[in-house]
Amino acid sequence: MKVSVLTIFPGFFSTPLETSIVARAIDGGALDVELVDPRDYTADAHRTVDDAPFGGGAGMVMKVEPLHRAIAERPGARVVVLTPSGTPLVQEHLDRWATEEHLLLVCGRYEGIDQRVADNLAHEEVSLGDFVLAGGEVAAAAIVEGVARLLPGVLGNPISAETESFRDGLLEEPQYTRPAEYEGWPVPDVLLSGDHAKIAAWRQRQREERTQQRRPDLWERRAKE
Ligand code: SAM
Repeated sequence: MKVSVLTIFPGFFSTPLETSIVARAIDGGALDVELVDPRDYTADAHRTVDDAPFGGGAGMVMKVEPLHRAIAERPGARVVVLTPSGTPLVQEHLDRWATEEHLLLVCGRYEGIDQRVADNLAHEEVSLGDFVLAGGEVAAAAIVEGVARLLPGVLGNPISAETESFRDGLLEEPQYTRPAEYEGWPVPDVLLSGDHAKIAAWRQRQREERTQQRRPDLWERRAKE
């Protein structure tokens, strides 16, 4: 799978792309990440990618032309604009994008991106959450990592992607490892019992209770499905 990231700060990605699972996906050939600087698609000596907003107001807006040229050079890609006004990012997005041959992520900066990019050149607008970052790069790095771990052959144990939070509409149960007791904090007895049926039932109950308590929105959605 190929992911193209349109960013005026390509250097931002050096550590995320060289670390752990993403690095493994790239080294193993499952993932190819291309960093594209919109400044390389400008036509003026100053390589201008932003301009003042029509109608006045604070800050600058990313111009449509360089982004259009960069996107047009990558036909067939699924184009996603990163913006706080987008649909909140959820696991289903990553599951779907992991099946694409080519994903193209557009990172904004300044006050955001000329809306004509999203309206005419993109398939979807996605937000990392209800908060405002300085740029789309953190969101793009999160998406690259979330997608990379779903690609065939990337995770050491693919079962872990199948059993974790948001599969089945539930949060994952709590996890513990040795020692069985630390500072008077014990691990739940059932996990030491060796009774696999009991452990499986406990885990399922924990998934359900946690989801009900922590994410009533997910719980209600699951009940309706
Ligand atoms: N003026 C915009 C607003 O109020 O919605 C915020 C612009 S933000 C400072 C600059 C860029 O950061 C955005 O164009 C977007 O690409 C990125 N960004 C900021 N917050 C984000 C979020 N929650 N999800 C995805 N991208 C975000």
